[in-house]
Amino acid sequence: MSPEKEFDAMDVDLAQLKQSIPLLEYLQRRNWKARRAGNQLEFVGLCPLHRETHPSFYVNSHKNLFYCHGCGRGGDLIRFVQLSLHLSFPQTLAHLRQQLTLTSNSDLLERTAAFYQLALHHHPEAAQYLARRG
Ligand SMILES: [Zn+2]
Repeated sequence: MSPEKEFDAMDVDLAQLKQSIPLLEYLQRRNWKARRAGNQLEFVGLCPLHRETHPSFYVNSHKNLFYCHGCGRGGDLIRFVQLSLHLSFPQTLAHLRQQLTLTSNSDLLERTAAFYQLALHHHPEAAQYLARRG
């Protein structure tokens, strides 16, 4: 594999990572409290990167970008993870990949649980069996 090819693959990987983990979702999973600012796509809340009492941290959920008017920092999800967790670029990618794996695993669990619930519904003997087993 030529170095150019590797770079391309990493680029695609990056784009996929960013697409799979929306910035707003990432922030909200970390209990970032936000309210809509102006239009439907912008949100504002307290900056997770510096201490403040008045919200100046803006997130555009359409562009997946943030900007803080308090500390003047902004960028995409990768930049945010780098800044908030003090990680290097490769560490950030590893962190995001892990997040992605965790998310898809819990989705899978939910789907599996839903499947078994449905199966139990359609097969009363299975439910009875489970009931007998306690
Ligand atoms: Zn800030």
